[in-house]
Amino acid sequence: AAKQHGRARGCRFRSEMNARVARRLALETGLRSALDASEFRLAYQPKQDVASGRLTGFEALLRWNDAAGPVQPAEFVPVLEDTGLILPVGTWVIQSVCAQVRAWRDAGMPAVPVAVNLSARQFQQDDLVDVILAAARNAGISPSALEFELTESMLMSDPAASEGVLRRLKAAGIGLSIDDFGTGYSSLSYLKRFPLDALKIDRAFVRDLPADSEDLAITRAVIALAHSLGLRVIAEGVEDAAQLASLRANGCDEIQGYLYGEPLPADQCLAIFAGELRERTVA
Ligand code: C2E
Ligand code: MG
Ligand code: MG
Ligand code: MG
Repeated sequence: AAKQHGRARGCRFRSEMNARVARRLALETGLRSALDASEFRLAYQPKQDVASGRLTGFEALLRWNDAAGPVQPAEFVPVLEDTGLILPVGTWVIQSVCAQVRAWRDAGMPAVPVAVNLSARQFQQDDLVDVILAAARNAGISPSALEFELTESMLMSDPAASEGVLRRLKAAGIGLSIDDFGTGYSSLSYLKRFPLDALKIDRAFVRDLPADSEDLAITRAVIALAHSLGLRVIAEGVEDAAQLASLRANGCDEIQGYLYGEPLPADQCLAIFAGELRERTVA
């Protein structure tokens, strides 16, 4: 009976494996044609200044549906990375964001920067800076309308090369932040040397604020570290007023999360801009 049980379990394991492999192949096939078929979209999530309540910018987030509906970036971005598709898709993201910034400016919207997430593969791309500057030029926007979000692992795998790329981006007036801060390994001496503007505290540390005393301690430490290096701090994944109150009390500069706004299609961001325009007119 034990042997039979084992065999049944082996079968189940094998069929789960097969399902995973099949899913992965289907994703890969779908993603290979998605760019040509114009299936990618961008959603834009706002960021808010804690002290003034003002809109400080947006983050562009990639969206893709397969035949069954939306697929999470956590599932498809790694496939784009493994297959190298992240290079053309990443270039499409940069160009699309530049075009969107142009359109928003033309519509008279406040000039807030838009952040783009970069993958390690893109960051190692020889012509990354050229791609970015050409995209901005073609859209007729200043590169300073752009920000890039990088991860610790990306920067620390080759700190000297990273520093060179960061300096070229910085020289063009582009904002630079570290995403998901606290989940990777950062060398403090490099944090000091890199020309960064902000650290984004990973939402894992924000979720259980203010009740979780360890997360509270980590959040305070990150805010103190960032400020002592002259960097702004943005908390990710802020969903409720108690989290915001705790972050405000501890000096966090900006928040992003469902409390202030979900990622939205570009046309729906107009409502956020409209609120801003009203406030700025009244002020
Ligand atoms: P990220 O850059 O850290 O983006 C934040 C993620 O948290 C987004 O998930 C966003 O929808 C989600 N989020 C925002 N506010 C809240 C909140 O209050 N609560 C919760 N639970 N979640 C919130 P999304 O869009 O699924 O993206 C996941 C990750 O995929 C991103 O993490 C980023 O690493 C990657 N990604 C997304 N777009 C791109 C892209 O264009 N290029 C690259 N290379 N990576 C991307
Ligand atoms: Mg990000
Ligand atoms: Mg993040
Ligand atoms: Mg991330």
